Formats: sequence, structure tokens, C-alpha cells
Amino acid sequence: MTKKYEIVLAGNPNSGKTSVFNALTGARQHVGNYPGVTVEQIVGSFKTGDCEIEVTDLPGTYSLTANSPEELIARNVIITEKPEVVVNIVDASNLERNLFLTLQFMELGVPMILVLNMIDNASDKGIKIDTERLGRLFGTRVVCTVGNRSEGINELKKIIGEVVREKDKHLSEKVTYSDELMLPILELSKILTDNNSIPEGYKADWLAIKLLEKDKEIIELFESLESGKEVLKKADVLIEKLENDVDEPSEIIVTEHRYGFISGTCREVVSATLQKRRDISEAIDSVVTHRIFGIPLFLGLMYVVFYLTFTIGDPFMNWIEAGFGWLGDFISSWWSAGSESSLKSLLVDGIIAGVGGVLVFLPNIAFLFLAIAILEGTGYMARVAFIMDRLMNKIGLHGKSFIPMLIGFGCSVPAIMSTRTLTLKRDRMTTMLVVPLMSCGARIPIYALIIPAFFAKRWEALVMFSIYIIGIITAIICAKLLRSTLFKGENEPFVMELPPYRIPTLKSVGIHMWGRTVVYLQKAGTLILAASVILWIMANYPKKDKLEKDYRVEIAKIEQSQLTTKQKELKIRDIKNEEMAERLSYTITGRIGHAIEPALKPMGFDWKIGTALIGAFPAKELFVSQMGIVFALGEIDEENPVALRDELPRHYNGLQAYCIMLFCLLSAPCIATIAITRRESNSWFWALFQLVGLTVLAYIVTTIVYQVGLLVQAF
Ligand code: GDP
Ligand code: MG
Repeated sequence: MTKKYEIVLAGNPNSGKTSVFNALTGARQHVGNYPGVTVEQIVGSFKTGDCEIEVTDLPGTYSLTANSPEELIARNVIITEKPEVVVNIVDASNLERNLFLTLQFMELGVPMILVLNMIDNASDKGIKIDTERLGRLFGTRVVCTVGNRSEGINELKKIIGEVVREKDKHLSEKVTYSDELMLPILELSKILTDNNSIPEGYKADWLAIKLLEKDKEIIELFESLESGKEVLKKADVLIEKLENDVDEPSEIIVTEHRYGFISGTCREVVSATLQKRRDISEAIDSVVTHRIFGIPLFLGLMYVVFYLTFTIGDPFMNWIEAGFGWLGDFISSWWSAGSESSLKSLLVDGIIAGVGGVLVFLPNIAFLFLAIAILEGTGYMARVAFIMDRLMNKIGLHGKSFIPMLIGFGCSVPAIMSTRTLTLKRDRMTTMLVVPLMSCGARIPIYALIIPAFFAKRWEALVMFSIYIIGIITAIICAKLLRSTLFKGENEPFVMELPPYRIPTLKSVGIHMWGRTVVYLQKAGTLILAASVILWIMANYPKKDKLEKDYRVEIAKIEQSQLTTKQKELKIRDIKNEEMAERLSYTITGRIGHAIEPALKPMGFDWKIGTALIGAFPAKELFVSQMGIVFALGEIDEENPVALRDELPRHYNGLQAYCIMLFCLLSAPCIATIAITRRESNSWFWALFQLVGLTVLAYIVTTIVYQVGLLVQAF
């Protein structure tokens, strides 16, 4: 028994559609008109296997907007008559231009076969197309034909037969654009779904794109719907926001993203052996995405960015620091000197020190975000993802994972937010979970404290470098592990958009930078504030009323003794340390520190380090001030922790110091990171998984390093 299937041929005018149509159907065709319009409708048929295929030759179009009757017919036939498959005829010698329509079929999410017609012309022009890769990128079967000579037609028939029998397997890949456009699409699509206002036969994502494109017909459709007015209102809000962000009409933005997607595709699959005329964008691309120069160029650029981040950020940083110092003094002045008021301590040692310690980095962070916003705005970041793709694929990650990792060197919070550009959940989750291993800016004060205290000048840079490298290598191993266990799955090829280069507008750069900076500010204002209060309470209560010794008497004794000033100073330090240890041991933090001490031993840590680690949980940089508290040095200047640097080597050795840095690098990220992971993964499970997983990892690695270090020292 023969089965009947209806398919359509679609493509640009002059792509050879009619030639392919004739080659497929021979004489079995008839010509009519589409109902109501004077657009010719040609229908024919052919047999393949036990299938009878009826083919309609759609009018040739360049796009599926509602701008001409041809375009409207083409898309309405596809939406309302739901052909089994759209056979998209493209002119292979003009791939870039022809794919513009192909992409719009993909947006529609219909089963599709891609026919690279005029492949003879393409060869003549020296164009080679990697059809296998193209097929995998688009999720479609690809056939090469020469329509006017019937070459490849039998294969096309065979493939049509296969596809119509199992059309669900041949739905083209979903098109995903970069964040800028994808986020509004997804938001609008969700509004449509939630509102239950998707007309019969349409798909939410496609309607969302069309609304953002201000498609006349779709707007009319919604105007005629009961719930449509509201949808249109919400769409307008999104359009306005998008246009504000990018500073261009939304329909242009959509088109630009389509071209970006196509450029990315062509860069992957087309290789031209003959010299062709280049436009400026291609000329720039040939340099920045160069196989050899691409990566060094990028690293150089990043070096400049990091360098500027610190040099430009520094003066501002000092102002902020001075500001908080002044605020602390001002508030202290409300009490008489030497007052032991708890409220004063809470305000000054707890809140101002905690929040101030985080806000100090605001200028660096803001500048880093500014630089990234500019690089993104020009279109350069998309190229970076492109050149990193191969490298990242080896780790089992997507090229786009590279950018969150890079931002992770600044701060994990915006880094995790930027994993949104990754469409596959497994890429996104893996990246999100390993990003905290990139040594963030908040760890720098820890290294700045420890390295000069324990290591000779000539080793300083190497020690610092080794910490960063250990972080990166651990991230690579973890990513590989996660991808082969929890987030299994083939590396799927992906089209990466190559957006046109443009000079970013001040407004759009400002918006991007501000958006990310605000998140950082919120972190300081909410989480860190709350955590500072809790930690302050934990480090001060319960208070021990009766101390074992009268330390003041002891200090007085030393001061009256015959020792040299230097000796006195050291003795007094020890006494103060002892007093602090006694006081701290009685508090909640101290008790936890003591309780976990046996577990910390294998890493070479004592309870004091344990206490400081707990104190540093809200934000890594707090470790420094916590160590200051533990060693009774009062307020520690993070920029210049000289006193603490002198003190630490009296208690620990270089191996222990290295292990502290290692543990701070690998262990549980700060509270803000956990909170953002929870928000972005929408699950407490993964947030806690990250927290526990990284802590366990840090424990294991640090223990190994410490134990091996001990062995080495023994020899
Ligand atoms: P349509 O506008 O898409 O229907 O395109 P036609 O089928 O009318 O073809 C346009 C022109 O391209 C005609 O002159 C065809 O002979 C020619 N043509 C069609 N397919 C091929 C092909 O594969 N190779 C070459 N070199 N020419 C082709
Ligand atoms: Mg024709």
C-alpha cells in the first residue's frame, strides 16, 4: 500500500527551485493559483519506495516577514498546512545570503531537508562546504544537487522518503541567539505560554521572535485575540528595553543576530580556496580569529584589561577605604575612648569592617565589567568564544563557557550569571559548578597577605602563578569528570553567532556594566551585611566573664621589666594573643574552630585557621581581617597587612601557608556565589552540591599536598 505525503520546496528566487522541482516530478505537475491571490501554485508528485510524495513549489522568497504576498503565502502554507517536510533549496554558491531564509525555517521549528543546489557553481568559485558539519549544526539532512542536470536528485528522493517516514527525528535544531536577543525571546515566549494566548498551530518562540520583529500580520493576529492586547503591551515593554539596550530598532537587532548566526555557521563550514573579496568585518575576523595569533592576541588584550583594572581602580579603592576608615572612626567617636560597648563593636568591627571589606573592590569590579561590556559590545567576545571553542571542547565544554570562566577571575557572581548564554543544561551546569575554581579577585588579599610573609621575593610570582594554575587545572579535571558522570552527553556542535563589529554606544555599555555592578552591590548590601552581623555575634558570644589570668597585670609586669623594647613588644604580643585565644575559644566561632580542629589537622591547620576560615565564608577577603582578629591585631588593613605578616611566620611554616592559600582557592565559594548558583540553577540541590563538593575537593587536595609536603621535608 502506498502512503501519501505532502512536502514543499522553498528557497530564494533563482536558487534553482523550479529546476529541482522539475527534476523530481518530471511531467507529473499542474499549475494553479493560491486561493485569493495571483501567485502561481505549482504542484507535482513522485514516488520513492512505497511512498507517493506530493510536492508544492512555494514562491521564491528571501525572508518570511510579512512584507509581500509571496512571503506570507510561503509561511502560511508551512504553518497552516503543515507539510511533512520543508525541502529548502539553497544556492550553494551564495550560501551566506541563502541561509537567511533557512534560519527562518529553523525558527519555525519544522522538519527540514537542506538542498545545496548549484554545487557546481560553488566548486567553480572555489567554495568548499563541509556538509556533514552543516547537517550536524542545523540538525538536518543535507544533499548536494545540480538541479538543471538532475544530479543528486535520486539521493534527494531517497532522503525525502526517509525523512517523511520519521519526520519527528528530523526537526531542525532550535536556533539560539546570544543573550541580548535570546533573553527577551524566552521571556516573551513564557508570557505567551502563561497567558494561554498561543493561536492554534503556532509556536511560542516563533511568535515571540515575530513580535520582537514587529511583524504586521502577527500583530494584527494578536489585536484580534481577546488576550492579545495584553500580550502586545508586554511585548512593547520588552521591545523598548531591548532597543534601549542596543540603541537600534528591534527588527534590525533581530536581523543582525540572524546574520551573526549565519556568519558563525559559514565560518565553521565554508572554506574558500580561491581568494574572495573581503569586507572590513571579514578582514578583522581573519586577524582576531587567526589560528595562531588569535589566542596570544586575546591574552594580550586581557592582560591590558587586568592591568588597567588595578591601576585605574586603585585610587578609587583608596578613597573608599579611607571613607570607611573615617566612618569607623566617626562612629567610634560616639563612645568614649577605650569603651567596650557591644554596639560600637558590632557597628565598627562587624558591619563596617565586613561590608567595607567587600565594597573596597567595587572600583576594580566595576572597571572590569566596563571592559567586558565594551569587548562584548564591539562583537569581539563572540570571536573569543569562537577561537576558544576547540580548546574548550577538549574539556567537554562549549566555547561559550570560556567567557564565564574568564569573568570568574574577577568575581564568580557575574560569571555564574553569564552562563545564561549556554543553551544546553549540561554545559551550563558544568560551567556554573566549576567557575568558583577560577581564582577570583576576593582571594587576592589572602595571597597578598601570605605570599610576602612566607616566601622569598624571587619565588613570589611563581607561588602566585602556581595557585592560579592549580585552580585552572582542577577546574578542567572537574569539568571533565562532571561531563562524564552527572552531565553526560555528546558534545553537540553549535552555531556561534559572529555578530557584526560595531562601536558600542555609551548607553548600552553603561547599562551592561551597571547591571552587573548592581548585583555586586546587592551582595554587599544584603548577604554580606547579614553575614557580618551573624559572624560578629558568633565571634563575640558567649562572652567569658572570668578569664583565667589577669592579662592586664601580666602586660604591666612586662612593661616594667628590664627587657629591650623589641623584646617587650613580642612578649606583649604573645600575652595579647593568649588572651584573645582564651576569649575566642569561649565564643561560638571558637568552639566550632576547636571542634573541627582534629579534622583540619591533616591539612596542617589549627583551630585558629579554622576559625578564620569560618569567618571568611561570607566573602573570601574576610579571611584576612579574621586572621587579624584571631591574632589580636585588631583592624587589619587589607592593602598593607604588615603587622599580620610579621606575626604569621611565628606560628606557621611555608607549607602550612601554601596549604591555607590552596584551601581558600578550592573550598566552598562565598555565600553570594552559593546564592547566585541557587538562583541560576533554580535548585538548592546544585547550590549545596557546589558548596559541599568544592569543600570536600579542597580538603582532599590540601591534605594530599600537606602530607606529601611533610614527606618531602622529612628527606
Ligand atoms: P527558481 O527561481 O528557484 O525556480 O530557479 P530556476 O530553477 O528557475 O533556475 C534559475 C537558473 O539557474 C536557471 O537558468 C537554471 O538553469 C539554473 N540552475 C538551476 N539549478 C542549477 C544548478 O544546480 N547549477 C547551475 N549551474 N545552474 C542551475
Ligand atoms: Mg521558479
